[in-house]
Order: sequence, then C-alpha cells, then structure tokens
Amino acid sequence: MEHYDYLVVGAGLFGATFAYEAKKRGKKCLVIDKRDHIAGNIYTEKISDINVHKYGAHIFHTSDKAIWDYVNQFADFNNYVNSPIAAYKDETYNLPFNMNTFSRMWNIRTPEEAKEIIEKQRREALAELCKKSGKSPEEFEAENLEEQALSLAGKDVYEKLIKGYTEKQWGRPCTELPAFIIKRLPFRFTYDNNYFNDRYQGIPEGGYTQIIEKMLSGIEVKTEEDFFHVVGRDEPLPKKGAGQKEEEFPDDELVINPHGGVLSDGTTILFDSILFTGQIDQYYDYLFGPLQYRSVRFETEELDTDNYQGNAVVNYTEKEVPFTRIIEHKHFEYGKQPTTIISREYSSEWKPGDEPYYPVNNDENNALYAKYESLAMKEDDVLFGGRLGLYKYYDMDKDISAALELVRKEFGE
Ligand code: UDP
Repeated sequence: MEHYDYLVVGAGLFGATFAYEAKKRGKKCLVIDKRDHIAGNIYTEKISDINVHKYGAHIFHTSDKAIWDYVNQFADFNNYVNSPIAAYKDETYNLPFNMNTFSRMWNIRTPEEAKEIIEKQRREALAELCKKSGKSPEEFEAENLEEQALSLAGKDVYEKLIKGYTEKQWGRPCTELPAFIIKRLPFRFTYDNNYFNDRYQGIPEGGYTQIIEKMLSGIEVKTEEDFFHVVGRDEPLPKKGAGQKEEEFPDDELVINPHGGVLSDGTTILFDSILFTGQIDQYYDYLFGPLQYRSVRFETEELDTDNYQGNAVVNYTEKEVPFTRIIEHKHFEYGKQPTTIISREYSSEWKPGDEPYYPVNNDENNALYAKYESLAMKEDDVLFGGRLGLYKYYDMDKDISAALELVRKEFGE
C-alpha cells in the first residue's frame, strides 16, 4: 500500500506546478489524469513536424516578470506576438480593435477621425440605452456585455466584430453575458495589432507538453486513471472494487488515518491531502446542481499547402459561419513545413461526457459556485485548483500564479 503526501487529480498546468513545488519541498505526490496524456488543455502533439495545440490555441502572455521567468525555466519561448485577423462576410479586419481596424472599417487614417466616429456611435448607443433604463448618461453603468460593448465601441464594431463571435462562443445572447468578458479585448488608437497588452509573450519552442513533462519529472504519474471515491479521515477505507478484500486493509494502516482510495489497477493508495483540479461541482456529486461550462470541438485536418490562411488565428465573427475560428498551428512557431494543419473550432454547451473548457461566469453560476466554495473552505485537506476547480476563466499566467500562491499557503511560506 503506497502512501503519498498529496494525490493530485489532473496533470494540467495547475496540478503540475503544484506537484513540482511540493516535490521541491520534499513531498511525495501521485499525479493522476483521466486522459491518456499529461498537460491538460495545454497539451501539444507533433504531427507532420508541426506542434498541434490539441485543445485550442494557447499563447503565453503575462505582465508578471516573476511568472515569465518561472515558465522560462521549462522551455525557450519564441517572440510570437498574437495578432488575430477577423473575417466578417467578405471583409477582413485586424484585431484587437485598433487603427488598422478602424481605418479599414471607415476608410479613415487618423486617430482623431476614428475617435470622432466612435464617439458619435457611443453617444447614440448610450442615449438609446439610457432611454430604455430611465437613467442619465452619468448614472449609466453597463449591466451586460451588449451594453458594455455598445457604450465602449459603438454599433459598427459591436455588430461586425463582437456580437456574432461572442454569441457563438458563449451560446447566449450578449444581453445575458457579463461585461467583463470583453475587457479581455483591448481597444486602442495606435496601429498596433498586438492582441495582448502584456509585457511578455511567446510560444514555447517545441510545444507546451515539454513544460509539464519537465515539471513532473521524477514524480509518479498515472494517466487514464479516473478519479475515484475518496474516503475521509474518519471513515473506513474502501472495500469495494478492483478485487479488493477486507484483509488488504490492515488496521495498523489506519493509525496514520489518511484518505484512501483504490486505483483502477487494483492498488490501494493512502494520501494525506488531495489537490483536485477537475470540476468542483463534480467533486461534490453535483450536490447543489451542475455549474455551466462551455465546451469546444475541433475539426482538425492536414492540408497539402504550405500556407492556408497566412496567420495563426483567424476569427469568424459572423453568426452564419458555424465555427468561431480557424487555427493554423505552424504559424505559432514560424514553421516552414511543406504541409499545414488547421483546426476549425466549434463552441458548444458542455454536457456530461464533453470536455469542459470555459466556466460560464455569469451571476447565476457564480452564486452556485459560491455554495460549492463554501464547502471547499471547510475542507482541511482537500485543495482545489485550476479553471475547473476554482471555476475561474484563468489565463495560463494566472493559473501558475494561483498554484504558486496555494503552495505558499499550504507550506506556510
Ligand atoms: N471577442 C470578440 N470578437 C473577437 C474575439 C473575441 O467579440 O473577434 C470577445 C468574445 O466575447 C470573447 C472574448 O472577446 O469571448 C475573449 O476572446 P479571446 O479570444 O481572448 O478568448 P479565448 O477563447 O482565447 O480565451
């Protein structure tokens, strides 16, 4: 019977960062993942010499130098700068919204001209929203994404570049989505197509999987291992499943009285604490009802051309095109391979059996999460982490810093 300090459920970025740091502090971890590979959703796989982002495009960006230095321990990053293109009907725009976008949209050249048009559209939108809500423009505060977008960017940008894309991605009308989602989208009056405002940005040369491999080196990892029922400190060890017999759980093992469980290969393990990076609602057997997530499906194909769309990311912002974007993976690493691999990305509502990707952080779900969180806070030796465990729309840098914060808390540093 093996004993571990931590059972880490989920071999993604959060779990791997935690396990790496715990090992540095002399702790013994077992990391399990239900998939047949490590690295969670940042997993990349080399196909025809191209690193394919199997669970969607990941571009590392941060303003936090400590996090940038941290992640650079595990890979060399190139100088990729994300500059997505938006395709709306037969029109092509640069993202994020900047002078290139405005110049193409209104055939203008100077920031003054762009500001004048946007100001006019914002005033019109604001007047209409105030009329509806009975508030004065000074009192007005955007209550949803549509109001936020209209009062920030005006009608043209909203209708051509935001509305269709957002409603496809989230499967809900923009009037029912929280305003903060588009705060991710910068808005500027310079000819600057860099999508992110962060100081540091890049793609790890050779893909992301190596980062997790290095973090987990020397740590026991079991893939294709489903999370199993965990027995609490005051309960008897599990007797069910995988050919286990009662005699296999000797009483003296209970002296340390840790949690226990049986792995699918029949081994019984004991552990003092668990870090769970799966869905928190699933951990609690959906006690208060399920949280909502968005899932993503990819249609990936190899094409016999060296360059399909000339950019790593092209967003399709109109409602009528069923996918949200096409990723051409080779461009993340300036690939010169003879063929190319593209992935069309379709967004859908998560249902059991699908991969959850994004938490849907509207008021209802946040209130539901707060109930699960209050259970989590009462746990002495069960920790939660990552996008699914904390129900937060984390970028990779925030995920790592949250994991490091948990480490500091856990080890009293
Ligand atoms: N967005 C948009 N139009 C675009 C790209 C993004 O309106 O062409 C909005 C949309 O609401 C989306 C949010 O910005 O949910 C964040 O998009 P991003 O691509 O940054 O999110 P990711 O899926 O990469 O985390």
